[in-house]
Amino acid sequence: MANLKLRDARKSYGALEVIKGIDLDVDDREFVVFVGPSGCGKSTLLRMIAGLEKITGGDLMIDGKRSNDIDPSQRGLAMVFQSYALYPHMTVADNMGFALRIAGVSTDERDQKVKEAAKILELTHLLDRRPKDLSGGQRQRVAIGRAIVRNPKIFLFDEPLSNLDAALRVNMRLELMRLHDELAATMIYVTHDQIEAMTMADKIVVLNGGRIEQVGSPLALYNTPANIFVAGFIGSPK
Ligand code: ADP
Ligand code: MG
Repeated sequence: MANLKLRDARKSYGALEVIKGIDLDVDDREFVVFVGPSGCGKSTLLRMIAGLEKITGGDLMIDGKRSNDIDPSQRGLAMVFQSYALYPHMTVADNMGFALRIAGVSTDERDQKVKEAAKILELTHLLDRRPKDLSGGQRQRVAIGRAIVRNPKIFLFDEPLSNLDAALRVNMRLELMRLHDELAATMIYVTHDQIEAMTMADKIVVLNGGRIEQVGSPLALYNTPANIFVAGFIGSPK
């Protein structure tokens, strides 16, 4: 099980409040997409969930526990970023197993987990390569592999496809949706791309200026937008 509850969750940097009271439930195994314009607080909200930022007001509960009481490493989360930040001198296998090595997982167990993840991501034939010898899409799959080997209950994605070209983005969208089914994990996915939001989400959270404008299924937002902002944002893909 992995669920999240945010209640009036807030984040300030000094006097500047960037997350201004978020109420949201994320259910076990849900695919939730945070969408909104640049600077609206998507990454900040994701980092608060990951524990990379302390919340400065309200509550964030992970499986019923108050988040500020849980060490980030104990949250059962793994995050995938827009820039893959693979280690250039390491092979694909070593990149994927790195976090496990740091955590003291034995070589045998590490190898097995890396092989399993590579199979799911169709990276088996690339395990001995270095990042410079991979395509953009393959690199992003390695970055996702690094998350999978840790067997997280919740995956957090921050615009993971925005560096890829359009055709590859379509493939990766399908691949991520397949992974969501296969791993039966909760996924929270940040994007500023309306099409990604509409095609991937069980539930879309539309953010604007640190607040939620609307939460609902893609169909609900499309058919019954709460206001002009949501209608404009969902209705006019760039
Ligand atoms: P998004 O991911 O939606 O583009 P961010 O979450 O990155 O937006 O940023 C939301 C707002 O918070 C922006 O106005 C940004 O300038 C501000 N912000 C983000 N991180 C910091 C920080 N460490 N210190 C001060 N302001 C920040
Ligand atoms: Mg961002």
